[in-house]
Amino acid sequence: METKGYAVLKASEDLVPFVFQRRDLRPNDVALDIHYAGICHSDIHQAREEWGPALFPMVPGHEIAGIVTQVGPGVTKFKVGDRIGVGVFIDSCRNCKACKAGLQQYCSEGMTGTYNGYERDGKTIAQGGYSNKFVVDQDYAVKIPDNLDLSGVAPLLCAGITLYSPLKNWGAGKGKKVGVMGLGGLGHMGVKFAAALGAEVTVFSHSANKEGDAKAMGAHHFIVTKDENWKATAPKDFDLILNTISAEINIEDYLQLLTLDGTLVVIGLPGKPYSVNVPTLLGQRRSLAGSMIGGIPQTQEMLDFCGEHNILSDVEVIEPSYINEAYERTVKSDVKYRFVIDAKKF
Ligand code: NAP
Ligand code: ZN
Ligand code: ZN
Repeated sequence: METKGYAVLKASEDLVPFVFQRRDLRPNDVALDIHYAGICHSDIHQAREEWGPALFPMVPGHEIAGIVTQVGPGVTKFKVGDRIGVGVFIDSCRNCKACKAGLQQYCSEGMTGTYNGYERDGKTIAQGGYSNKFVVDQDYAVKIPDNLDLSGVAPLLCAGITLYSPLKNWGAGKGKKVGVMGLGGLGHMGVKFAAALGAEVTVFSHSANKEGDAKAMGAHHFIVTKDENWKATAPKDFDLILNTISAEINIEDYLQLLTLDGTLVVIGLPGKPYSVNVPTLLGQRRSLAGSMIGGIPQTQEMLDFCGEHNILSDVEVIEPSYINEAYERTVKSDVKYRFVIDAKKF
């Protein structure tokens, strides 16, 4: 089916209008009209080859919210008119331990990414959500609760689940002190979820002007990291710190803020290795961990949680022609708090 979108034709070039074909429906596929697609910092990292060589032409976008327009004969999970979401992957091996546990993002063969990779046939380039139509296997899509506005839902498909998953995995809740590093697309979702789960939430930000927003989202404390003095006065009793910063930082400064048995989870992926002082870890039995998005069952759980608690991403809805400027503004941390493309305008 003919699909209109925006693509990067060569690394680091501006995105340009791009017309391409999506596959005809297989028995278990659904087709959807994309209504909104979020701009994740991972899109920018990949379009600019900050994570190594990428595949072009690239239609980025893995925060997709839309409405089903067609279903294959084997589809039981969705019907025409359903509001559904697609995130960072569109397939996986389905047989390994991780896949069987619903942790498709950790598939031992590697998840099949929504873009910047080949589909499982090994030859079709997967193209992402900066486009007006999408085709996906029903097992890799999730249902969006009726009460949630689709524009604020799109970012939940990556930013939302990526913060919800570690908060649940490391037991954030009442009586726990949680730190969120970076109040961007991911970070602002972390604040909303941690607060909704009952934790005491502190934001570490290099943007002093975000304090009011952070508190409105549920943060209890806000620490500005712009000037070096912040380390001397920061509390050192965090149970869990989530690093969502997209740039190089000194992770050691934050590891030192963990309490006994505390964990710092790395989520931001600037692309270079970190250096860690071993005594900082063993002195308080601290852990340094990583976490990547979330599997399909947990993504559905997260959306249902958002439906119950009325949680949405704070978005700036843009036209496709604004994508390049949105990239520049995202890199400058100048977005409140996620750009979302109105996909009906492609
Ligand atoms: P984003 O919206 O650009 O937010 C990143 C935030 O990091 C900014 O808002 C800013 O927060 C802070 N920051 C940026 N530059 C900084 C600097 N030079 N020094 C200190 N802080 C800085 O990005 P995002 O979409 O949330 O993504 C964040 C990172 O997570 C990216 O690297 C992305 O690739 C990665 N990611 C990982 C996963 C996963 O599964 N692990 C999933 C999605 C994305 P303040 O203004 O508050 O300081
Ligand atoms: Zn993402
Ligand atoms: Zn697998």
